[in-house]
Amino acid sequence: MTGYVDLHTHSTASDGTDPPAALAARAAEAGLAAIALTDHDTTAGLGACAGACAEHGIELVPGIEVSCRRGKPLGAMHILGYFIDPDSEALAAVTARLADARARRAPEIVERLNELGVDVTIDEVTGATEGAMIGRPHIAAVLVDKGYARTIADAFVRYLGSGAPAYVRKDNLTTEQAIHAIHQAGGLAVLAHPIQLRCDDDDELELVVRRLVDEGLDGVEAHHTDHSAAAARKYRKLADRFDLAVTGGSDYHGGRKDIPLGSQRIGYDVLERLRRRHEHRPGRTAGV
Ligand code: AMP
Ligand code: ZN
Ligand code: FE
Ligand code: FE
Repeated sequence: MTGYVDLHTHSTASDGTDPPAALAARAAEAGLAAIALTDHDTTAGLGACAGACAEHGIELVPGIEVSCRRGKPLGAMHILGYFIDPDSEALAAVTARLADARARRAPEIVERLNELGVDVTIDEVTGATEGAMIGRPHIAAVLVDKGYARTIADAFVRYLGSGAPAYVRKDNLTTEQAIHAIHQAGGLAVLAHPIQLRCDDDDELELVVRRLVDEGLDGVEAHHTDHSAAAARKYRKLADRFDLAVTGGSDYHGGRKDIPLGSQRIGYDVLERLRRRHEHRPGRTAGV
């Protein structure tokens, strides 16, 4: 198999704007051979996406992007899960907990916004999510609609981003819990967009990755829209040093962000190597 893949995408099941089935059509239009659907903290879109991908002749890697605790202002720790069983009970326990945390956080953010004189209600926010998991981009979209911010990015700077006045931390998981749940679901755990960890220097990055490796990390997302070519090279080397898989994806969010699907031009060989690692993962029961 040849061609290109995109191993990091979001649908309306989280904060993307394409419904999971539409994502398959987009992937076909973009000429991709395979995609991974990696919605934030939910597997709800995987069923619909799988059906549509089959119709379009696109391979689907069932995925997830789990929000973890970073413990550093501005830093984000996201762990991608690949080849997960969408019906895994261990993963369902984690996503239920994260959904609960998000449901509690959204009204708190709205309260902060109200205190800042912003006229927005929780109903307007939940209206924007259409039943999907609530993320700050949904709140940002309402703020843009109502004229409180010029763009989604502007809404993060003014109100929602870490350090901004209406920022509320999510109560999220430890990386150990996330990696463990992904493994229990039969998947591989990959550190998403390491640039977003906001490490002070390469020593800190190395320390963080070493800890994740001890916890069972399988790979590093070296190629991502936020990474320069030099950064991608650095993350590839890091992955090599720790014998980790290398992955890549665009972090496509549909119309919510200006990032084209497939824009990282990740070769199919990257998926093949990831699949081989999955097939040979330790602790795998024969025949499963
Ligand atoms: P949440 O899951 O609610 O914490 O929101 C995370 C989402 O917000 C991810 O899709 C991020 O890419 C997006 N996000 C975080 N910071 C910003 C920012 N400064 N501008 C635009 N989107 C952002
Ligand atoms: Zn997102
Ligand atoms: Fe992320
Ligand atoms: Fe993402």
